[in-house]
Formats: sequence, C-alpha cells, structure tokens
Amino acid sequence: MDYRVLLYYKYVTIDDPETFAQEHLDFCKSLGLKGRILVSTEGLNGTLSGPVEATEKYKEHVRSDERFKDIVFKEDKAEEHAFKKMHVRPRKEIVAFDLDEDVNPKELTGKYYSPSEFKEALLSDDTIILDARNDYEYDLGHFRGAVRPDITRFRDLPDWIRNHKDELSGKKIVTYCTGGIRCEKFSGWLKREGFEDVGQLEGGIATYGKDPETQGEYWDGKMYVFDERISVDVNHVNKTVVGKEWFDGTPCERYINCSNPECNKQILVSEENEERYLGACSYECAADERNRYVKRHNISDEEKQRRLENFKELAKQ
Ligand SMILES: [Zn+2]
Repeated sequence: MDYRVLLYYKYVTIDDPETFAQEHLDFCKSLGLKGRILVSTEGLNGTLSGPVEATEKYKEHVRSDERFKDIVFKEDKAEEHAFKKMHVRPRKEIVAFDLDEDVNPKELTGKYYSPSEFKEALLSDDTIILDARNDYEYDLGHFRGAVRPDITRFRDLPDWIRNHKDELSGKKIVTYCTGGIRCEKFSGWLKREGFEDVGQLEGGIATYGKDPETQGEYWDGKMYVFDERISVDVNHVNKTVVGKEWFDGTPCERYINCSNPECNKQILVSEENEERYLGACSYECAADERNRYVKRHNISDEEKQRRLENFKELAKQ
C-alpha cells in the first residue's frame, strides 16, 4: 500500500487548545493515522503518516476550517507508517523556545526567502547562512558552508547567538530549519535582538529539497527527521555524505540510539560496529546490565565479556 508522511504547521490563534486536541485526536484515530501533533493558543504543528487516502481526508478536513484553509502540507512518499502511535497534545508553544518575552511571528519575523532566493543567498559571499536546528541534526546533513550552533535544544539558541554576537552583527543573516516553523520565531527574535537584515527559508529544507528549480542543490548529507525514518534525502543534484561514524570516523548515515536506556544517546554507527560494541556509545553503556542490544540479541555473558574487551582495546588506541 502507498503511504504518505505529512509535515505542517500554522501560527494562528486557537482559543481552546485542550478541546481542539481531544477532537483532533479522535478524528486522526478514526482515519488510522499515526504521528505527533502539538496544539497551542499560538497554532498547530504536526507530522503524521498514513495510507494516501487517509492523509488526503485529513488534509481536506483541516483545510475546511477557515483558520487553516491556506496551511501548507509537505509530503513524502512512504511504504509504511513513520510513527508507532498517534498523539495530539496541548502545549504552551508549538515549538518550545521558552523565551521570557515570547515572539509572535505573525507580528515579527524575518523576510521569507523562496528556495531559489535562498540558493542565491547561499552562493553570495556577504550572507551568513545559519542553521537553526540542533547539533545532531546538523551533523547528519546541512547546507554547504552553513554556521553550526552547538546546541542540543532549540531553546538554547538565543544564548548561543548572544555569545557569538561579534561574528554575526552587521551581517546579512538567513536562517533555515526542517520545515520552517522554528525559523518563524527565531528570525523574529533575531530582529528584536537588533539584527537588521534577517531572512528565513520559507517552508524549510523539506521544501527546498522538492523545489523543481533547486532540487536540494548544495545540501550535504541527509536531513534528520523526527520519526522512525530518522533521515531522508534532500539533494537530488549531487549527493554527498557528511555523517561520521562514532567509532572510526568513516562516512556514515546510520543512526542508532545507545543501547543503555538511561543514556539513549543518538549516534551514527555502522552495522559492524553496532555488533562489535553492543550497540553502545561507551564502555560504561555497553557494560550496563540494562543493555538493550544484549537482551534483544540474547547475547551470552561470555560473549558480552568478549565484546567488552573490544571496547577496552579501542580505548587504548
Ligand atoms: Zn550511551
């Protein structure tokens, strides 16, 4: 069967997020959809998967509401669900930015760059292309030459900017993120912070990759996505690999979660090394008695000890 994965958001006032969320959840479940949707007084942010027909019905239903008649759905083809469950959750924000004084992107936001305009900015020397995502997202793939803030949560981005103000002030800045939702607020915040020439990639990387003119050109690696697929292709012109294997640094695009449930760190690991190092990021995690890899593969104590020795050898190198 043919499936679709949808990605969408809209900043628009929703008066009663709790009631909206409950009704929306019931509707999604009735269609057999799976995914994650956040609802707030500031809008709607969702990503879900389902059979083509169900996703079409969903789109129709959402657009029949006057508030969402112009909402943009980014779509990927898929062969199965990209989520395990269906959640619709009321939240304070549709993306956690946690500012003391919030930014309303309907009132303050950066200039919108179409994919072609963005590509032009990417190639010009006087523009800083700033990645508004997390470090682990950047490390799997990013626009060529883009600045990488070393943050693991979106809400840490303002502090990072303030610490790098000298390098950024007076420059033309264009930001990008997965689907565009983070940049709406972030670019508004940059303007409020005093940066004058601020732009954002409209529709995010997801749109840039599918644009018939840009076709994802100058994107290196893959795009991290927050579902079971973990990553998708963007560049259909000249594909490259930028991810590096956690243990040996060779090119790698295979993400796993560390097998120690307490750690759960996301690392790029080859199949070989996952097996060799028991699916863990460190000796401590590999040796942990809750190691999920050991359980899943029924590895004997003797064999576990042998592979732990491998880890010790690695540490000596
Ligand atoms: Zn770990």
